[in-house]
Amino acid sequence: MLKGFFNVPKAINEPVKSYAPNSPEKKAVLTAYQQMWKAQIDVPLYIGSEEIRTGNTRNITPPHDHKHIVGVYHLAEKSHIEKAIANALDSKTKWASMAWEQRAAIFLKAAELIAGPYRAQINAATMIGQSKNIYQAEIDAACEFIDFLRYNVEFMTQIYSDQPKSTSDVWNRLEYRPLEGFVYAITPFNFTAIAANLPASAAMMGNVVIWKPSDSQVFSAKIIIDIFKEAGLPDGVINVVFGDALIITDTIIESRDLAGVHFTGSTHVFKDIWAKIGSNIHHYKTYPRIVGETGGKDFVVAHPSANVKQVVTGLIRGAFEFQGQKCSAASRAYIPKSLWTEVKQQLITDVKSMKMGSPEDFGNFITAVIHEGSFDKLAKYIDQAKKDSDIEIIVGGNYDKSVGYFIEPTIIVTTNPNYVTMETELFGPILTLFVYEDDQWEATLKLIDNTSEYALTGAIFSKDRYAIEEATVALQNAAGNLYINDKPTGAIVGMQPFGGARASGTNDKAGSAMNLLRWVSPRNIKEVFVTPEDYRYPFLGE
Ligand code: NAD
Repeated sequence: MLKGFFNVPKAINEPVKSYAPNSPEKKAVLTAYQQMWKAQIDVPLYIGSEEIRTGNTRNITPPHDHKHIVGVYHLAEKSHIEKAIANALDSKTKWASMAWEQRAAIFLKAAELIAGPYRAQINAATMIGQSKNIYQAEIDAACEFIDFLRYNVEFMTQIYSDQPKSTSDVWNRLEYRPLEGFVYAITPFNFTAIAANLPASAAMMGNVVIWKPSDSQVFSAKIIIDIFKEAGLPDGVINVVFGDALIITDTIIESRDLAGVHFTGSTHVFKDIWAKIGSNIHHYKTYPRIVGETGGKDFVVAHPSANVKQVVTGLIRGAFEFQGQKCSAASRAYIPKSLWTEVKQQLITDVKSMKMGSPEDFGNFITAVIHEGSFDKLAKYIDQAKKDSDIEIIVGGNYDKSVGYFIEPTIIVTTNPNYVTMETELFGPILTLFVYEDDQWEATLKLIDNTSEYALTGAIFSKDRYAIEEATVALQNAAGNLYINDKPTGAIVGMQPFGGARASGTNDKAGSAMNLLRWVSPRNIKEVFVTPEDYRYPFLGE
C-alpha cells in the first residue's frame, strides 16, 4: 500500500464539441460511422477472463435501417449466469482490497480514453445502435460518460475523507467497505452514459458487478467494455451478460450473495424486481441495496407571464430531442389560454421545420425510435387519439416503419386533462397539451401534482417571481429535478444531480455522492489509547 493522502484531479465537465460543417470532429465521427456500419461485430459474454460465444445469437440492427445488420451478440443460458456470479465472487477479494487510488486511476484513464481516442467510436456506435443524432450522442456517450467517471472519482475521495470526530484518547475511523457480495447492474437502451455508469459506479467503490445491458444498446456496450479493458479494469470486476432478462434476473436474485441492484429502466420492471427480492429476503447474507431510476411523465407549465418563444423552445427540445426517449422528456404541458394562439402557431411552425431520417445526415433533428415494439405502441396511441372526441392532433400524427422506425413528432391537444397520454409514459415523440383558463393557475398546479404517478422532472416558465415561488412550493413532490425557465431535460453531472421519487425511482441521484454511498457499507473502528482496567465508575464510591 502506498503512503500518502492523494489528491485526485479536480473534476471538470467535458466540453461539448460543435460538429459544425468541416470540423475535424465531424469528419472523425463520420469516418467511424461508415467503418462501423460495414463491419460485422461479434459480441460475446464477458465472464472473468473469458469471452464466451454461446452460438445462440441475435442480430444487431440500427433502428433507422432495421434490415441492415451490423453484427450479432451471444445470449447466455442459466449456467452462464451462475458462472458469472462465481467469477465475480472469485475476483472480489483482490479488487476490494486494491488501494482506492489504483481504482481511481483506472476510471480516470477511461475518461481520457473517451475524451480522445474513443470519442468518435463511442459516438458513432450510439448513433448507429440507438439512432441518436450527433449532438445527442456527444452529450451522452462522450460528455456525460466522461463526467460520470471524473466526478465519481472526486465524490469517492470526498466520501472516504468524511470521518467522525475523535478525542485525544479515542480515535474513530470510518472505513467505507464495499458491499459483501456482488452488485447486479441492469441498464436501459436510452443512455450510453447510464449503461456505463451503473456498473462502473459500484465497481469504483470496490464492488464486483454483473452487468446486463439492454438488448437495444449492445452496439455501444461493446465499446464501453473495450474502453474499460484498455483502461486496465481487471477481468471479473464487471462481468457482462446478454440474453433473456427474466432468466438472468431470476438466476441472480436466487443468489445468497446478491448485495445490490443498480437499475435504470421502466417502473413496472423495477417493481417486479423489488417484489422478487422481497420474497427472497430470508435467503440473503445481507439486505440487498436496491437503487432504481425509473419512468417519468414530465411536465411543462407556462404561467401567463411566460415568454412564448422560450416556452416553445423548451417544449420542442424537451419533447422531441432523441425522439422523446428520455426519462426526463417533456410529455405533458399546461398552457394558459391567453398564450395559446401564439404558442400553437410557433409549435406547428417549428415541428414542420424539423427533418427526420438517418443520424448520418447531420441535418436531421429527428431519427427513429428504438425498436418495433416501441413503434407499434406509439402508433397505437396516435391512432386512438385520431378517433377520440376530446383530442386534436395539431401537427404530426404520421408514422412509417418500412425502412426504420420513424414516428413524426406529434402534438396532441386535449380538453381532458386526464386523457391517457397526459398520464401514461409513452417514451416517444408525442407531446400532449392542455390549455387552462388564466385564472385557474392555482388549480392547474394541483392538477399537475395529481395527474401522474411519476415525479421525475418538470419545468415552470414564468417572468412573475410570485408565480415561480408558488409553483415551486405547490410542485415540491411532483419532480426530483425542477427547472425554472428551462426545458426539463439535459441534467449535467456535478451540476444537477438526477433522479425522481414516487413511481420514478428511489431518487438516489446518479452523478452525486448520494448514489455512491449506496455501494458501500461503512465500518466504524473505535480505538482506545488508554484502556480502563477497573470496572468501577467513580459514582460507585458512595
Ligand atoms: P426497460 O424497463 O424495458 O429495460 C431496462 C432494462 O431492464 C433492460 O436491460 C431490460 O432488458 C431489462 N428488463 C426488461 N424486462 C425485465 C424483466 N422482466 N426483469 C428484469 N429485467 C428486465 O426500459 P428501457 O426501454 O430500456 O428504457 C426506458 C425506460 O427507462 C423508461 O421508462 C425511462 O423513463 C426509464 N429511464 C429512467 C431514467 C431515470 O433516470 N429515471 C433514465 C433512463 C431511462
